[in-house]
Amino acid sequence: MSVKVDPKLMKDLEHFGLKDVNKCFQCGNCTAICPLSTPENSFPRRFMRYLQLGLTDKILKSPEPWLCYYCGDCSTQCPREAEPGEAMMVLRRYLTSRYDWTGFSRKFYTSERFEIVAVAIVGILVGLALWLFRGSNPNMEHAALNSVWPAPAIEIADLVMAAILTFFLLSNTYRCAKFIMGDLLYRIPPAIYIKKAWELVVHFATQKRFGECTDKMQWFVHLLIMTGYSTVFLLVAVFLAGGLHVIGLYWDQLAFQRDVEYAIWHPIRLLGYYATAALLYGTTYAIIGRLKKSKAPYKNSHGTDWMFLILLELTTLTGIFIHFARIVDLPMTTYVLYVVHLMVAVPMLVLEVPFAKWAHLAFRPVVVFLTQVKEEYFKEQKMLA
Ligand code: SF4
Ligand code: SF4
Repeated sequence: MSVKVDPKLMKDLEHFGLKDVNKCFQCGNCTAICPLSTPENSFPRRFMRYLQLGLTDKILKSPEPWLCYYCGDCSTQCPREAEPGEAMMVLRRYLTSRYDWTGFSRKFYTSERFEIVAVAIVGILVGLALWLFRGSNPNMEHAALNSVWPAPAIEIADLVMAAILTFFLLSNTYRCAKFIMGDLLYRIPPAIYIKKAWELVVHFATQKRFGECTDKMQWFVHLLIMTGYSTVFLLVAVFLAGGLHVIGLYWDQLAFQRDVEYAIWHPIRLLGYYATAALLYGTTYAIIGRLKKSKAPYKNSHGTDWMFLILLELTTLTGIFIHFARIVDLPMTTYVLYVVHLMVAVPMLVLEVPFAKWAHLAFRPVVVFLTQVKEEYFKEQKMLA
């Protein structure tokens, strides 16, 4: 079987943050130390080789870049400082761009200018829309957001946004599955997918493989950000309850974005508290870690890492500020903060979820699930033979 070599691969991947792969002399320490590498799915040494040789097709078909959670153990142990953990991260960025059929993801990852301009344009459009569609008779006596932006209008906008980004995310996730499974995707009987479906839920909700790494704090922080963010996303996309408001702790208009106050024990209110606390702690921890370069996963930061963390932190903080502005009943301050809040929250959702950093929320559990489906299929085939 012929193997296609792409001599430009390493050069191309430099735009995604690749640095020191040629330092690797294939000693294998990284694979030996990696707590998640197995004989069936061995990494990261093998991928350092694929990168050095330019084996694009092999990389595209491999699930392993998604089985790495970037704990950084391999980078710490590498005698050549070849940063294998970062190389796996770069591969995930590259693969995200290859799964994306629109080409937007590639531009987002390879040009900081494009990334900043895209976020700015979406933010400005959101600000303009809120200005154009504001109510003619806002309540200036008391802070009442629905007097400026009626709840049904915001709900419809939420739904449209959720539908668009879900479409892009799902179509890209399908391409991810197709690359990794090839024809097996259709040949494997549905019964095996159903049998293993629970694994998809478990890996999405708990990131339990990350918990097998030595640095449990990394897993905990990742879990906080993931669950905080997913809570918001699910509320927008599934419960139609105005997830953007959940971050903002607008308790009196949470469910379906009405100006109605819900009890402290109301599930949506509790979810909002959890999402805010988890996001604030997790995001601040990651920002400080990256500023201090405190551990291997925080040593190298791509522009998209910073963009995501900054948007998430700003979204959370402006939400908290709105909460306090409402408590002290400052109508104009509340309305202005609300606009700023959506100007950062919407670009984060519509750009990061389907095309950038947070697409891995979908890709990783799906790949873990498909890997197990494949193993089960081959096990059954062996028994039948
Ligand atoms: S990345 Fe480092 S530890 Fe891994 S094989 Fe290469 S030189 Fe060895
Ligand atoms: S970063 Fe951690 S999980 Fe990823 S390859 Fe290195 S040791 Fe394994």
